[in-house]
Amino acid sequence: MDGTYDRNNRPDLAAYWMPFTANRQFKANPRLLVSAAGMYYRDEDGREILDGTSGLWCCNAGHARPEIAEAVGRQLMTLDYAPSFQMGHPIAFDFTTALAKIAPAGLDRIFLTNSGSESVDTALKIALAYHRARGQGQRTRLIGREKGYHGVGFGGITVGGLVKNRKSFVLLPGADHIRHTHDPERNGFARGQPAHGAERADDLEQLIALHGAETIAAVIVEPVAGSAGVLPPPVGYLERLRAICDAHGILLIFDEVITGFGRLGQPFAAQSFSVTPDLMTTAKGITNGVLPMGAVFASRAVHDALMTGPEAAIELFHGYTYSGHPVACAAGLATLEIYQSEGLFRSAAALSADWEAAAHALRDAPHVIDVRNIGLMAAVELAPRPEAPGARGYEVLLKGLEAGVLFRATADTVALSPPLIVSPDQIGRLFSTLRGVLESID
Ligand code: PLP
Repeated sequence: MDGTYDRNNRPDLAAYWMPFTANRQFKANPRLLVSAAGMYYRDEDGREILDGTSGLWCCNAGHARPEIAEAVGRQLMTLDYAPSFQMGHPIAFDFTTALAKIAPAGLDRIFLTNSGSESVDTALKIALAYHRARGQGQRTRLIGREKGYHGVGFGGITVGGLVKNRKSFVLLPGADHIRHTHDPERNGFARGQPAHGAERADDLEQLIALHGAETIAAVIVEPVAGSAGVLPPPVGYLERLRAICDAHGILLIFDEVITGFGRLGQPFAAQSFSVTPDLMTTAKGITNGVLPMGAVFASRAVHDALMTGPEAAIELFHGYTYSGHPVACAAGLATLEIYQSEGLFRSAAALSADWEAAAHALRDAPHVIDVRNIGLMAAVELAPRPEAPGARGYEVLLKGLEAGVLFRATADTVALSPPLIVSPDQIGRLFSTLRGVLESID
C-alpha cells in the first residue's frame, strides 16, 4: 500500500476544477488520498484512514480487490472497447444476465449507463417513451420528492429536491414534487424505519387531483434518501406509493444508486422493503466503484411495450458510447462474484444490530439532534452553529481525518456507510472516533 507518491512532489492543484467541492478552500488546505486497500485509505503523509463512507457510497467490497484488478487487466487485453450500437460483445450479455439473477422479481431487462446521473436520466426517458409507445404521449409530467438526490443531469436535478443543486440552472418543464419524509418531531432518533409518515405518500393523490393522472409519467424516489442525510422510508410509505401508482397507471422508479448492491442486507432495497418498482436505477457498487458504470433495471412490461413496430427499427433512441463498456462489465462481473462468494449481500443485515446500537449510543454526545440508521447506513445530525450552518459538519470531517477516519459531512449531518466487509471492531472505532470528535469541538 506504499504506492509511489512523493509527499515533497505534490501535484499542481490549479487545473483540476473539483466537483461538489469548495475549490479555493480545498486548495488552500488540500486533503489527498493516495492509495487504498481493504478498509483503509492512506493519505499523503502515509497515515491510514479508516473508510467510513465506502469512498462515496460505492466501494462496498472494500478497496484494491485483486480479483477485480485481474479481471479488468484480462479484459483490457482481450477486448478493450467495442461499440454497442448495432454491435455486441459477449461480456455485456454475460453481465446483464448475472444482474438479472439478483434483480427484484421481474426487473430483468437491463440498460447499461456510466453513472447514477445517467441511469436516472435514462429511466426518466424510458418512462416517457413507454407511455408514448402505448398511445399516452400526453403523460410527460415527472414527479420527484423534496430532499431527493438523483444526480446532476437536467432530468435528475428537475426531479431532485435539494435546492442548491437546482437554483442556478434551468429545469425541465412540468415537473412537481411530493413532500419529503423527514419529520424529526415525530420520528426523532428512530431506529430503522420510522413509525410516522406513511400518509405523506398521499401527496401523490393531491398532485394527481391537481394535474390529472393522465399527464403524469412517473414518480421517482430513493427508497432511503441518502444524500439528504439517510432518511429511511416510514413504515407503509413505499407500499402506499406503489398502490397509488398502480391505481393511476403511473410508473414507479426507485433510485437505488446508494441502496443497491447490499447496503440494506439484500441486493436491492426493493427486496428489503418488498416493494417492486417498474424501473430501478443503479450505479456505484455495481463495479465496487472501481470503474464508471450504471444500470437501469426495467420490468418486462416496460421493456416489452417498446419492443414493437418494424423489427428493423431502433426501439429506443438513447445510449452512450460507453454503455456496456467491456472493461466496466468485467469489473462488474468480478464484483458480483465477490459479493456472492463472500455473502456480502447479507452482511448489512448481519451487522445491522451492532451498527444500530453503536450509532444510537451517540444520542447523548454533544451537538447531536438526531440519529438515523438502516442497514449499514447511518446519519448523525448536528445542531448547526448559529450564523454558520455547515461549519460544524465540516470541522467533523477535518477532525475525523486527523483521528484517522473518513466521514461524509453534508452541511451539519455526518453520514456513515462503510464497506460491507467492515468488522464489529471497526464499527466501534467509527462511532467512538465520532464521539471523540464531537466532544472536542464547539
Ligand atoms: N442517485 C442517487 C440516489 C445518488 O445518491 C447519486 C449519487 O450519489 C446519484 C443518483 C448520481 O450518481 P453519479 O454521481 O454516479 O452520477
